[in-house]
Amino acid sequence: MKIVFVKMTDYGVTVCGNCGAELVCDDCGDMPDKCPDCGCDLDYSKIDE
Ligand SMILES: [Zn+2]
Repeated sequence: MKIVFVKMTDYGVTVCGNCGAELVCDDCGDMPDKCPDCGCDLDYSKIDE
């Protein structure tokens, strides 16, 4: 599966670098490993958490 970098918008929202879907953490505070929209594997290495 294609790996895409996660991007941070000017509004502080993390989005998929491929399709732009908004990424939200689950109840445990974990971010999704895959985009819920396009299914790409997500790489958060360019995001400062
Ligand atoms: Zn996506």
